[in-house]
This record gives sequence, structure tokens and C-alpha cells, in this order.
Amino acid sequence: MPGTKAATTLRSIAIRLSLSLLLAFLLTACQPDQLAKQQFLQFGTLIEVTLVTSGDDAARLFGDIERLLQIRHRQWHGWLDGDLKQFNEALTEKPGREVAVPASLRELIQDSHYYPRLSDGLFNPAIGRLVAAWGFHRQHPPDHEMIALISQDIPGMDDLILRGQHASTRHAQLQLDFGGIAKGLAVRQIAELLQRNHIRDFIINAGGDVFAAGRKGSRAWRVAIDNPFADGIAAGLELRAGESIFTSGNYRRFQTDDQQRRRHHIIDPRTGEPSTIISAATVIHPDPVRADVAATTLMITTPAGLRDMARALDIDQFLVITNDRQVFVSDTLQRRLSWRQPEDFSFQQL
Ligand code: AMP
Ligand code: MG
Repeated sequence: MPGTKAATTLRSIAIRLSLSLLLAFLLTACQPDQLAKQQFLQFGTLIEVTLVTSGDDAARLFGDIERLLQIRHRQWHGWLDGDLKQFNEALTEKPGREVAVPASLRELIQDSHYYPRLSDGLFNPAIGRLVAAWGFHRQHPPDHEMIALISQDIPGMDDLILRGQHASTRHAQLQLDFGGIAKGLAVRQIAELLQRNHIRDFIINAGGDVFAAGRKGSRAWRVAIDNPFADGIAAGLELRAGESIFTSGNYRRFQTDDQQRRRHHIIDPRTGEPSTIISAATVIHPDPVRADVAATTLMITTPAGLRDMARALDIDQFLVITNDRQVFVSDTLQRRLSWRQPEDFSFQQL
């Protein structure tokens, strides 16, 4: 019967099709997981992305990450021509005039209003002009006249008035600088890009600031915390899936003044001067943005104020090393650390 023959043919096609689909699935499933790695030079630092994949999608994903970073670098840069520079210029050109907030800056500006409130104004992205006057952007010597002028009345994020998608300021010295937060947002956006593409296991290392997802095969991703006083590491630890670890320090970017004092790039908005007590602050948190902000902020606190500031920023795991090698570390983090040479440090009660 012709009907029966057609049905048999259809059935055999269906069987062959499902067999070949099964074979394709098995072949993909059997392909061993591989590590694919690429480095990008953006945000003034080397960003290395490593992912575990059994497919051939790594090259495409690295291309997407490269483009994302190139765009963000331009948009968020404080003094190269781009969205932030133009926005800063437009803001102070005419006091009180409303300027459209570019879409690329909205999330950063929102976060930049939120974190100063939590940190009692210590985290203050409105001090771009002060940071520039200290000469850290272009490795210039400090402009002491300008520093003195701005320090008389240091702008804060409250001086940036937001109305819908528009902003204005009457503070002539207000300039946004996202140096303490932009790397965290870039890392978060790379992680989101990879997760959207169903990559489960990866690590993003932006010059020592890290976000880890999943695992490296059968092991956890391992990271190290720099020794602020010498080349090499102070301690190592395993990151849990979905954690980020960020460190701020006075040992990466600094100048030495006439009296051999170290002038580094994190400014205490209460004094207008680089913060003085702490050499390095490390924070672990699931959100790379919060970790980035908190590490910068803890650099400006005192040992006595650490606990309260960490609580205000909702940070549970942190480590601070002072200039005189005292270590203040939360119990939750200390339990996870393996110190290389603990005798080099003096461990203090928090
Ligand atoms: P980080 O390396 O993440 O600690 O960020 C340091 C950068 O944050 C500096 O280079 C400045 O661009 C910016 N910055 C300096 N002082 C502050 C501050 N008090 N609040 C927010 N950002 C700051
Ligand atoms: Mg930071």
C-alpha cells in the first residue's frame, strides 16, 4: 500500500534524523572542555579573560568583549574625548544649566549618587578636578594652587542635581571621575555578556581585580592578593562561584614628594589630600561594582572606623593592610586565606 510505504519512509527518515542529531550531540558533549584565554589592554590596565568551553565560540566572544571594552573605555574616560569628558565640560560651562545625561553614563551616575550616601561622602566621584590637580591622570607634578582653591569647597555628588535624564550643577569645580568604580562596572558587563552566551565557567582578571564564575574544571579558581611592600603575593585564596575580589592600594600609582612622602591617587574628600594610613584594601563581594567602590573607600578610613564603614557598605569580607604592616581582616575572609609569610605582618583585632 502506497500510504504504508510513505509512512515507513517517513519513519526511517525520522529515525535517521534523530540518530544523526544524537550523534552530533554526543560529539559535542564528548569534546573536552578547553581553557580559552585572551588579554585586552583597556582602562589603563591589562584585562585577561579565561573561559572554559567545549565549543568554538571563544573567538567570537573575545571579539565581542574587545568591542565592548573599546566603547566603554571611550565613553567613561575622564579626559580623553568621549561622553564623560563632554558631559563634564557642558556641566560647568554655564552654572545651573541642564545638560542631557548620555545613556552610557546613566548607570554610573546612579551608582555615584548611591555610594557616597552609604560612605558618608568618602566615596566621592565628584572630585575629578581635584584628582586631576594632583596630577595623577597625566603623571604631572601637583598644581598646588588649584588644589588649595578646590579644597576650600570640595564638591560632592549632592552638587549634581538630577531631573529625569538631565543634570545640572552650580559648583564650578564639580567634575565626575569614575576611576574608582568604572572597572567594576566593566567587569560586571563582561560577566553579563558571557553569561548571556551560556558560558558558565570563566574568570575575568582586570589588573588583579577579579570576578570568577563557576569553576576551573574540577577545582575552584585561585587568586592571589599582592604584597603591598614587595614584589610577590601576600596571600592566596580560592574564589567561590560568583564572587569578585577587588583591591585598592597606594603602591600601584603614586608619586614621591620632596619629603619622600608617598602621594597616591585616592583622595580623602575631607582634606583634599591623598589618604594616609592604609596601604591596601581588599574586598570580596558578589557584585564587582560594590567590591570596587568599597576597596577604594576603605583606603580612606581609619582602622577604628573600618568595621562601621564595611557594615555601611554591606561588605562582610575585607582585608586592610596599614602603612606600618598592621593587618585588619574580617574573620570570614581570614578563614579562607593562606598567607605566604605571615611573620611579615602584625595581625590586629578588628
Ligand atoms: P581604585 O583604583 O578603584 O581605588 O580607584 C582610584 C581612582 O578613583 C583614582 O585614580 C581616582 O580616579 C578615583 N578617586 C580618587 N579618590 C576618590 C574618592 N575619594 N572617591 C571616589 N573616587 C576616587
Ligand atoms: Mg575602586
